[in-house]
Amino acid sequence: MIKKILLLTLISLQTFISMAQSNPANYNANNRFEQLESTLPTPNSYRTASGSPGKEYWQQRADYDIKVELDDINRKIIGSETITYFNYSPDELPYIWLQLDQNLFEKGSIGNTSQTGSIKGSISASAFKDLTNPKDFGYKITGVKDIKGNPLRHTINQTMMRIDLPTSLKSGQSVSFSIDWNYLITEYYGRSGYEFFEKDGNANYFIAHWFPRMAVYNDVYGWQHKQFIGQGEFTLNFGNYKVEITAPNDHVVGASGELQNPSKVLSANQLKSWEQAKSATRPILLVSQEEAEKAEKGKPTGKKTWIFKADNVRDFAFTSSRKFIWDAMQVDVEGKKVMAMSYYPKEGNPLWGKYSTMVVAHTLKSYSSRTVAYPYPVAISCHSVAGGGMEYPMISFNGGRPEADGTYSENVKNGMIGVIIHEVGHNFFPMIINSDERQWSWMDEGLNTFCQYLAEQEWDRNFPARRGEAQSIVPYMRLDSKSQVPIMANSENIMEFGNNAYAKPAAALNILRETVMGRELFDYAFKEYARRWAFKQPYPADFFRTLEDASGVDLDWFWRGWFYGTEPVNQSIETVEWFGIDNQDPTAKKSKDKENFDAKRQTISNIKNKTDIKETVVEKESDMNDFYNTYDRFAVSDDEKKKYQDYLKSLTDEERKLVSTGKNFYVVNFKNKGGLPMPVIVKLTFEDGTDQVLRFPAEIWRLNDVDAKKIIPTDKKVTKWTLDPFYEIADIDTDDNAYPREPAQPTRLQLFKMNRQGPLNPMQQAQKTKTSGAALEGAK
Ligand SMILES: [Zn+2]
Repeated sequence: MIKKILLLTLISLQTFISMAQSNPANYNANNRFEQLESTLPTPNSYRTASGSPGKEYWQQRADYDIKVELDDINRKIIGSETITYFNYSPDELPYIWLQLDQNLFEKGSIGNTSQTGSIKGSISASAFKDLTNPKDFGYKITGVKDIKGNPLRHTINQTMMRIDLPTSLKSGQSVSFSIDWNYLITEYYGRSGYEFFEKDGNANYFIAHWFPRMAVYNDVYGWQHKQFIGQGEFTLNFGNYKVEITAPNDHVVGASGELQNPSKVLSANQLKSWEQAKSATRPILLVSQEEAEKAEKGKPTGKKTWIFKADNVRDFAFTSSRKFIWDAMQVDVEGKKVMAMSYYPKEGNPLWGKYSTMVVAHTLKSYSSRTVAYPYPVAISCHSVAGGGMEYPMISFNGGRPEADGTYSENVKNGMIGVIIHEVGHNFFPMIINSDERQWSWMDEGLNTFCQYLAEQEWDRNFPARRGEAQSIVPYMRLDSKSQVPIMANSENIMEFGNNAYAKPAAALNILRETVMGRELFDYAFKEYARRWAFKQPYPADFFRTLEDASGVDLDWFWRGWFYGTEPVNQSIETVEWFGIDNQDPTAKKSKDKENFDAKRQTISNIKNKTDIKETVVEKESDMNDFYNTYDRFAVSDDEKKKYQDYLKSLTDEERKLVSTGKNFYVVNFKNKGGLPMPVIVKLTFEDGTDQVLRFPAEIWRLNDVDAKKIIPTDKKVTKWTLDPFYEIADIDTDDNAYPREPAQPTRLQLFKMNRQGPLNPMQQAQKTKTSGAALEGAK
């Protein structure tokens, strides 16, 4: 690189730099740094411009009193409920809407009939069964009555039911009514259902959205009665629940809530263990594996009713099986005692006994520290079918199953820990910070995945988190625009669900925390959002506004780029120009000039002529010489020396110092090739091997969002420039992030694909080596 020499003019260096910097080549910023105000809803007295609930914020409430029987023989739910619905809205309601989620499994549901697909050579047995003989697992509603037992007019529209009230429900009033129903339980489909174990002939039940639930009526949508199609989850009211669950008397039942009749359903030994669990530092078994294995070989002799109460929850789910091992350990969460518990069949061990309840306890503490203190008395993790997980208040159904021989791969172990953190974490988003899941998946999945990432790192150093790191979203953001939708898309319209609703918002929040806002400002604002909206129903603008309002950071450009757009981040360093300051010392300047002059005379002709031309005329005839034959054009004149002294005198001390330091100035040309503007982070490596990292805010792009030049002064010579040295902005192409460019890396072809589940997992391999080693020893 050639160093160009600059004259230090009589304007100060600072002025020079600011003049040079105040002049982007041309304005070209589109609307990337405009405020979002026309995109966000107009603030009102329910939701303020600063993102908090307004002074007239209201929400409805629904209390439930439910009696339900789990029929293990027919795999059936039979229930009756009394709902008391409180109208805290300012409006009069002539009718109310309920959700009949189970009707997703009716033959004619939108969820079923809107499925699209084609056949590529083969078809799975389950798809074949579904297509040729769809079974009807929808609700059978057998009664809708007022409190006196008179039938109420009602209309079922797919997964929604409207009840016409005899008289309109006025603001401030409540209405009670009852519903009777039953339905056949489906096989576990990722949210609810049973898992059947052929070997012992028993089923584990994971029962959710099993009762007609009130739809939400609010200030944003009125009735939120968008049909349940399958992907978009739930929009729910808070309320108090009393639930009586009748199950075979050899079942163990766990649920969203506190058990009200332990002395009726638990044995004396179990009651003793329960007391022990209150001061335990490791989970205490209430049902051991031995007892569970004995139970799965037996038969029930009758029924048992478990009574639970749950206050201020938005839903209620339960689990039941004779196969369950059950453990518990009380934890202190911000001064509150919470019973962390797990329910799992022997098929979950040894992983579940060792980790599940410990992970529940850690999750409660980690999330409480960054949001609000966990308010409920219990938190449960149940082992459902391998893989995936599903969340309900106080209870979650989680995968992660070892091999039959008790070994497991690293993936299974970490997947299980990750999914338990995630599903228990959902207690905070959306069970407490009650976002509208039917509309916005990212508000619970994204925020939760972000907190999950942080809790995973606190669980084990370098935990291999799948989501959260900026780099982890790069492959998704490289997809073309037809394969992506913005994060701000309705749940049912999302493609690449895991990347869009979980990974991208989690990475975006991590980038906000580490790179855009810094941990202190971010953590404060994030906690403030949780505090403001705990037990209330936030919408996206409330989140966007609160994070700005509490941190003092303008983030509109960030929400616009990351949440409303699909452009990727792709920065590059295009050119670097190098300048030095001319100190104007004539002695130094002239000797440099002489060096250059002499160097330029070393031409091929001159070199050869030195010997080829024996003698020139001027050399031979001395009178052919004159003044210029001995004149030293590089000698410094007295005049020049005086001029230099005068120049030095005209400088201030500070300027004189600057002139003599030999500072370097670099003009670095950054390009934003991806579109999404982000802070510019650049590492300078100096010739002595030391380095320095400079950070420029995203506003560097505010007048020109493709091209930004930056003047960077340094004392030492820079030998290498590296953009995004800590992989924090999700740059989709890092080949152009170094200057000078690094030689291209050869593309390595993968010969063998790593098997996720190889024929032998490493634990099995280790055991095999041990055995064969022992055999060899024996042979000796
Ligand atoms: Zn989730």
